[in-house]
Amino acid sequence: MSATIRIQRVSKRYRSTRVLDGLDLEVEPGVTGLLGPNGAGKTTLMRALATVMAPDSGTVELLGRNTGLEGDRTEIRRRLGYVPQETGIHDDFTAFEFVDYLAILKELTDRRARHDEVRRVLDVVGLSDLRHKKLRRLSGGMRRRVVIAQALLDRPELLVLDEPTAGLDPEQRLRFRETLSSVGAGATVVLSTHQTTDISALCQRVVVIGAGEVHFDGTTGEL
Ligand code: ADP
Repeated sequence: MSATIRIQRVSKRYRSTRVLDGLDLEVEPGVTGLLGPNGAGKTTLMRALATVMAPDSGTVELLGRNTGLEGDRTEIRRRLGYVPQETGIHDDFTAFEFVDYLAILKELTDRRARHDEVRRVLDVVGLSDLRHKKLRRLSGGMRRRVVIAQALLDRPELLVLDEPTAGLDPEQRLRFRETLSSVGAGATVVLSTHQTTDISALCQRVVVIGAGEVHFDGTTGEL
């Protein structure tokens, strides 16, 4: 299988802090978990994978395209779903309005098809019944699921999920496993988590990073 993600010698620093240090990584289709202590650089790496952060040096190729080139970035973003760690979401929107708004930004222009797609992704995360509730009236776990729903719009080939299960209760965690199994078999999913149970339940492969480098890369059994 060809790699969806090809990272070569990627470095990133914030002032005196070296966050990523010549990191190399290739990721194929399937679900890959990213583990590491706080401050290891997981979020920084996920932001590079979502094309929201450009590394200081090195290359990040996604879906056969180079994130360093503007035209390629646009093409990648069309085929990418992203759940950021921190989301400032529009409290006055209902769940439906919020996901629909992101679907418009995602260039789903046909209104009827778009609304069908918004209903589909809200159903996948189990929020159909609550879709007309304002976000500020939803619990933290429900809001997290709304953010997960928008990442599933238009069936992305690459899904970048930064701590998607943070704030979910045990039942919602189980449900998230079903959510992931609804993603197409050919898709590439990278998720970061603090929960080793997430890794064993969800991931075929696990990558452990520490001090900006890959410390372990293998199957969950090997870990
Ligand atoms: P993790 O997600 O593994 O906890 P992060 O990628 O969030 O790690 O952070 C790695 C290091 O980079 C931390 O020391 C953090 O303080 C620093 N860092 C991350 N983002 C910024 C930023 N925008 N400005 C300054 N320092 C940052």
